[in-house]
Amino acid sequence: MNFRIGHGYDVHRLQEGLQLVLGGVAIPYEKGFVAHSDGDVAIHAICDALLGAAAMGDIGLHFPDTADEFAGIDSKVLLRRVVALLTEQGYRIGNVDCTIRMQRPKLRPYIDTMRHTLADAMGVDDDQVSVKATTTEHLGFEGREEGVSVSAVALIYRA
Ligand code: MG
Repeated sequence: MNFRIGHGYDVHRLQEGLQLVLGGVAIPYEKGFVAHSDGDVAIHAICDALLGAAAMGDIGLHFPDTADEFAGIDSKVLLRRVVALLTEQGYRIGNVDCTIRMQRPKLRPYIDTMRHTLADAMGVDDDQVSVKATTTEHLGFEGREEGVSVSAVALIYRA
């Protein structure tokens, strides 16, 4: 069995009056992400972890933010495409784990829905997907509610 591990990290800026979509789930909050796509920073970090595990570049290489095709796109579509790219190379997903750094709102009520939504988009079971959230104790851009950062790791394998 050929195991490979990958890491991903992404940041998006928050702005008043935009819709917040995180981990594929719409979350009520007075701010949302400024981005070319829907700005789902959790999915972007996971895409980069998966691509990194396969040494297949990053999300910006496959889905350039200059391409009209990806303007406002549902990031779950990008995640499905990344999984398809890996599948073409004979890879399967072992598990994915991510940590969201966000001061507000509390994400606990949405975590299991995010896990299910992400697992569904990747074609894996819910128990192969972990989503964790932490505040930064009001420190840094996340703590000032100016933006959200997410780091992710993914393990993939080829039998
Ligand atoms: Mg991004």
